[in-house]
Amino acid sequence: MAIIIIGGGVVGLSVAYGLLKQGKDVVVLDGADDDFRASRGNFGLVWVQGKGENAPHYAVWSRRSSELWTDFADDLLKETGVDVSFSKIGGVDYFIDEVELAERIKSLNSLRDALNDDYPFEVLDHDELKKRVPEIGSKVVGGVYSPMDGHVNPLSLLRALSIAVRNAGGTIMTGVRVVDTQAKDRDFSAVLADGTRIVGEGLVLAAGLGAVGLGKKLGFQVPIRPQQGQVLITEKLPFFLHYPSGTLRQVNEGGVQIGASKAEIGLDDVEDIATSAGLAQHAIDVFPHLGKAKLVRSWAALRIMSPDGLPIYQRSPKVLGAAFMTCHSGITLAAAHARLMPDWILERNTAPDVSQFSEGRFRV
Ligand SMILES: Cc1cc2nc3c(=O)[nH]c(=O)nc-3n(C[C@H](O)[C@H](O)[C@H](O)COP(=O)(O)OP(=O)(O)OC[C@H]3O[C@@H](n4cnc5c(N)ncnc54)[C@H](O)[C@@H]3O)c2cc1C
Repeated sequence: MAIIIIGGGVVGLSVAYGLLKQGKDVVVLDGADDDFRASRGNFGLVWVQGKGENAPHYAVWSRRSSELWTDFADDLLKETGVDVSFSKIGGVDYFIDEVELAERIKSLNSLRDALNDDYPFEVLDHDELKKRVPEIGSKVVGGVYSPMDGHVNPLSLLRALSIAVRNAGGTIMTGVRVVDTQAKDRDFSAVLADGTRIVGEGLVLAAGLGAVGLGKKLGFQVPIRPQQGQVLITEKLPFFLHYPSGTLRQVNEGGVQIGASKAEIGLDDVEDIATSAGLAQHAIDVFPHLGKAKLVRSWAALRIMSPDGLPIYQRSPKVLGAAFMTCHSGITLAAAHARLMPDWILERNTAPDVSQFSEGRFRV
């Protein structure tokens, strides 16, 4: 029998791909096009610097995934012919505010101390940064470079994962809504909206914001909330931006992607002009020549946030064989999810220790 994976976003598909590599059968059940789908609206960073302030284990986990990414992307290319355009020459965060730069440096220094100095980054003042990125404007006071960071084409990643899962014999059913689950230890059925039952020997709940209702029944707390992020993209431009940053990156097709805002406004994925204008202004402050570039598209999507912003990996306390996975950095963590988490799902003793990411941390 197969392992049922509810959710065919980047988390569900990465895990499905990894489980197939371990010789397991999988069936991925993925909802409708009008669902909230972070995997189709994200920024595409494989990002480490700055993650895990006050949570060094998250910094380590993000970095571990980033280190697996080159191999992961190579495998996807070999197996599917899809180049996900992964690049890892390091990333630079640009600052136009001295105070924010000082705060970032303080936070990175404390992470570096907590990680016994094993946390590479370089602080660059305006002149040093200009040598590496000549297009920066005069408002940029400095930046932070880290070799740990990279970026990828997230839509190509989804495509590659879907092809890889199907090539390896997995089933992906799209346009199907799971409305209920029935579970007795290691014996599951997922009930679809049309009444069809899909049976399996295990279940992974990776339904993003759709996990809330289904998860409670399986014994999970599912303490997640949406956080809106808006993104803009310019027309294709001559290639100038080698280093991605948390707010600006030039995608493999040439457009400069600008983002992403953060708004706590519930299940609302409609863009607003004021936020777009703020994002555009930031881009022009960093790279003044972007003031002449045409914007060709903007969108908003919803992040899936836990109370502390870290991933949640939880086995059901109620039913053997059910697991819940969610995170707000599913692109960065895709390699770890494909390569390391199958052992955790299969409860093998080779599994990574992800106990610090369990739901237990939210109990008072
Ligand atoms: C603006 C923005 C920028 C981001 N930037 C980055 C970034 O640069 N780097 C990074 O690492 N991460 C980034 N993220 C986060 C990343 O996109 C998410 O962590 C990731 O996409 C989550 O994937 P997921 O599979 O858990 O969820 P989703 O992509 O939301 O997928 C969940 C799937 O479950 C399905 N589903 C839901 N309910 C049901 C049901 N009942 N039955 C069947 N199917 C169901 C849905 O149809 C959907 O396809 C960003 C997110 C946003 C919004």
